[in-house]
Amino acid sequence: MNNYQLSQTVTYYKEDLIWYAYNWFNGVACSFDDKDHFMYTAFENNLKQIEFNDLSNEDFQYLIDNKFLVLSNNEIMEAINEDYLEEISMEHLKLILLPVGQSCNFSCVYCYEDHSNSVKMGKTQKDILINFVKNQNLKTVTIEYFGGEPLLNKQFIFELNSELIKLSLENSFKLYSSITTNAYTLDLDTFSKLLKNNVFSYQITIDGLPEDHNNFRPLKNSDTTFNKIFNNLIKISSLPNEMIFEIVIRVNYNEYSATDDKREKFLELLSNTFGNDKRFSFRFRPIGDYSKMNNRKNGKIYNCSKVKSAEIKNKYNIEATDKKLRLSDLMMYVGKGSYSCYAGKPNSLIIMPDLKVMKCSVAFENPLNCVGKIDDNGIFTKNTNWHLWVKDACRTEEKCTNCHFISQCNGSACPLKNIKSSKIICPDIKDEYKNLSNLILSQLEILE
Ligand code: SF4
Ligand code: SF4
Repeated sequence: MNNYQLSQTVTYYKEDLIWYAYNWFNGVACSFDDKDHFMYTAFENNLKQIEFNDLSNEDFQYLIDNKFLVLSNNEIMEAINEDYLEEISMEHLKLILLPVGQSCNFSCVYCYEDHSNSVKMGKTQKDILINFVKNQNLKTVTIEYFGGEPLLNKQFIFELNSELIKLSLENSFKLYSSITTNAYTLDLDTFSKLLKNNVFSYQITIDGLPEDHNNFRPLKNSDTTFNKIFNNLIKISSLPNEMIFEIVIRVNYNEYSATDDKREKFLELLSNTFGNDKRFSFRFRPIGDYSKMNNRKNGKIYNCSKVKSAEIKNKYNIEATDKKLRLSDLMMYVGKGSYSCYAGKPNSLIIMPDLKVMKCSVAFENPLNCVGKIDDNGIFTKNTNWHLWVKDACRTEEKCTNCHFISQCNGSACPLKNIKSSKIICPDIKDEYKNLSNLILSQLEILE
């Protein structure tokens, strides 16, 4: 007789006499309220080995089919390893390009970047990048435009992407493009040119109600920015539903910009304006202490207090879900490798205008961040920093190989933290499985 055990990727908790279980491997959930059920007994006694084996029992078969019960955790780890190898395959190149380096038209109070270097990408970089892509055997190429503010060099984006589209047809790879922009110059003309050039995914920041947003995210000359960004987004949202694109609205907050009253008003505004547009989703993040460049204006501190940050995020997520707003974080919780940072993946590179290659988009000033350079012929040569970032904790670190969140995190939630502490650091959300699994199920209902 085979002995089954609970998969390492299943978490469970009891509420109102019911046991709830969620499988992080495949996003399947189930619950048990019958005290005589073999799973109820197992959870009550915190048993990992299941003392039941009747393959004609429908529940038992369902739990096996959905990988709640496995003969050995090896079968889960093998599947996770396969997904991981595909995720980091060199056939799937992911480039984060900074067309203007860290230059920006904004002067956000919490920004961690150094805007002083104003070298832009131009024809030379475009030709080298095209050669770099040509030099490889690729199935997919993903280009993320980042900054600074990448739309300060719109023409470069249009031209590079237009050449990449041609190359993708000649060399049969799929091209995906996205952009992180402050959207101040994202008028309809720019937006339609970006769509024409294959840029379908956008991350745009609106930091709460107009007063807080304008306080956090002024122009370099101190002018306000909320109205212009919001009006650009309203015009974009009025485009026909058949036009396909996705916009993630990122909301940075601290305890003063996200009080109960302000959250209510802001979510009402988002819901009334974008709630019916399935192309929009939302992401809430505490203002963090990213680097020594952070919060350097006026000597004021804008960070969200560590004690409050998780509580506010949880409230934002629940209240947004109550208003039927879609959370973009859902994919980070359920996707394969979705909570592991690009900095730890060998197929993911950040490229600066001087063609130096970086790994982390938050620590440009850290000398360990530079992992090599692309030469004039489009050949990438790595330096000795490379192996600090690209590790294989997914298969080598014992705590990771036994973890319920391994499929999402791969032991690489933040390679920068791992490097700084010389050990693998778990993301905070690892222990929030109860709240998170509830949130995932509520969000899936909205998407149905
Ligand atoms: S390494 Fe850490 S800090 Fe850097 S981009 Fe990744 S998650 Fe962010
Ligand atoms: S780093 Fe922590 S959360 Fe991530 S896989 Fe390893 S043990 Fe799990």
